[in-house]
Amino acid sequence: MQQGKIGVTTENIFPIIKKFLYSDHEIFLRELISNAVDATQKLKTLNATGEHSGELGDLTIRVELDEKKKTLTITDRGIGMTAEEVEKYINQIAFSSAEEFLDKYKDKANAIIGHFGLGFYSSFMVSEKVEVQTKSYRENGQAVKWICDGSPEYTLEEIDKQDRGTSIVLHIDKDSEEFLQEHKINELLNKYCKFLPVEIAFGFEKDWKDGKEIESDKLRIINETKPAWTKKPSELKPEDYKKFYKNLFPLIFDEPLFWIHLNVDYPFNLTGILYFPKIKNNLDIQRNKIQLYSNQVFVTDSVEGIVPEFLTLLHGVIDSPDIPLNVSRSYLQSDSNVKKISNHITKKVSDRLTEIFKADRKEFEEKWDDLKVFIQYGMLTEEKFHESAMKFVLLKNSDNKYFTWEEYLEIIKENQTDKHNKKVILYASDKTAQYSYMQAAKEKAYDVLIMDGQLDAHFINHMEQKAENVSFVRVDSNIVEKLIEKDDALATTLPQQEQDELSPLFTANLENDKQNFSVQFEDLSEQDAPMIITQSEWMRRMKDMSAMSGGAYSFYGEMPDSYTLVVNTAHPLIKKLIEEKNTHLAADLSQANDKIHALELEKISLEKLKEGKKEEEIDQLEKDKLQETETKLDTAKDEKTGMLRQFGREHQLTRQLIDLALLSNNMLKGEELNRFLKRSIEMIH
Ligand code: ADP
Repeated sequence: MQQGKIGVTTENIFPIIKKFLYSDHEIFLRELISNAVDATQKLKTLNATGEHSGELGDLTIRVELDEKKKTLTITDRGIGMTAEEVEKYINQIAFSSAEEFLDKYKDKANAIIGHFGLGFYSSFMVSEKVEVQTKSYRENGQAVKWICDGSPEYTLEEIDKQDRGTSIVLHIDKDSEEFLQEHKINELLNKYCKFLPVEIAFGFEKDWKDGKEIESDKLRIINETKPAWTKKPSELKPEDYKKFYKNLFPLIFDEPLFWIHLNVDYPFNLTGILYFPKIKNNLDIQRNKIQLYSNQVFVTDSVEGIVPEFLTLLHGVIDSPDIPLNVSRSYLQSDSNVKKISNHITKKVSDRLTEIFKADRKEFEEKWDDLKVFIQYGMLTEEKFHESAMKFVLLKNSDNKYFTWEEYLEIIKENQTDKHNKKVILYASDKTAQYSYMQAAKEKAYDVLIMDGQLDAHFINHMEQKAENVSFVRVDSNIVEKLIEKDDALATTLPQQEQDELSPLFTANLENDKQNFSVQFEDLSEQDAPMIITQSEWMRRMKDMSAMSGGAYSFYGEMPDSYTLVVNTAHPLIKKLIEEKNTHLAADLSQANDKIHALELEKISLEKLKEGKKEEEIDQLEKDKLQETETKLDTAKDEKTGMLRQFGREHQLTRQLIDLALLSNNMLKGEELNRFLKRSIEMIH
């Protein structure tokens, strides 16, 4: 028996590696099985080229657990190693590359992804002792056994071994006993080895016999050696793609909408299948469903930094040996191969969407609602994607008709161009809540888009910046006559004095902390509602942005919502309201007006006295008198307003009309709603 010392300088790097890579211990299994796969494939190549002429036999790789001996064994029937090769590959290369690896990443163990390169050595992360029994494919090779406990000492001896290939026996250490559990190994095999190209067996198939589950003698193969993405698209039917999707994501119930089969071999190697899922409300659970493989070995299911952010909403598999795996993410983002791959995928995605849109617009429209967020996300975040998506991004109107951007502008050109020659796109963000406004717009033969998606608010801003002379206006942001500014401006015939006297009646009923109301009078038609509440487009958007992104907009977030109460002075009920106010308050009002008038006259004459005089020439008595008059005037005005407000608060018709306006805007809630209901019942009585 030979004994020796492995050529490492650090006395014992084992504990350090163990500590640094604690959370990733489980990758040892992937590393050992990949080695077994490599050894098997090398043998196949040698056989194909004639360098190996014996029988290949069964090449299945076996994973076996022995709970009693506390061992996990991985056996392959690949090329195996001679004693010299063990010396060279295991003692020198494996150990020195582990040391090199550690040196490089000492300070940033967390930044390590991929972990390739640690290879064989990772077995020591879970074992107190590792045994390698191996016999080379070369004729008359002598089998050897190598044993090491992770320290630089090892033993190497000749053994009897009939079969070609390698067995790695891990004596699992106390801290890692979870790896002696069948379900844990199953889980890891499923995660890392599901699509490896050589069959891997773990345990036996189970059969049902006499109502009981019994183990058969048939090996249970845990992997699919030729997964869909490695095949040619021409070999696959839609069912195959769907089946593979189910296989990848057994927990996703919905079928994918479309897919893209990637297949590039120049200037980089890339295969894969990307699926467009139905996008649900919660974007985040959709993410990170792209699995990254390197030659069918699972690497990670987080492709952040490898593909543009919006593409992380897609599901599927990318396989590329050209993506560097044992580097940090920040390095990945600047890697030129990664950039090329990412651009390529983005282009493929827009090409595919263009293709489907052109080939089958009906199908595209049917799936649009589920695709929309994905496409808008891409347009918002990737300039290149925006450009190509302009051809197929759709707008949906309130009649569920779909238009491309160009088609839509053509449709509204005639009727929805304002006096500044801007095209005004009207939209509703809530079909139910904004129903009456939508109806009003439709009656004017305007078209209304439905913009109720998660990203629509952002999308609207984005499109306004991109497109010239187009603006989006929500249907409830103004009365319909003013949604699109045209030349025939409306005006009210109600005198200013009357307007001033009416406003307090309304504002008295509308005061609260969260909302600000201003009153505006318009001569609409008798058929229009007596009162309408609108919310300025601009202010509402600022608030929406603040709710979504905070930051620069947070200032707006703290402001109360501001609304306009539009009073339709052409409506009979408003005319009645004015009349009732005037009759009921006739005496009080004329008295108050007289008082104000008198004080105003007095003020004017006092101000006349000051005319042409310098400040110091004015008599103090005169100054005081003016001051006193001004105060009296303010008080008189306040009294008048107070009287009007009180009338407004007590006046049933006023309150009822306001409540109806609030109600039709979905703004009447809680106590107010309750009071409204009671009042309505009283009024019907
Ligand atoms: P890597 O696989 O990245 O080269 P490893 O440390 O995993 O690094 O393995 C070192 C070398 O040991 C391999 O390159 C291979 O030559 C040899 N080796 C490892 N496992 C096996 C095996 N199961 N059969 C044959 N050779 C192996």
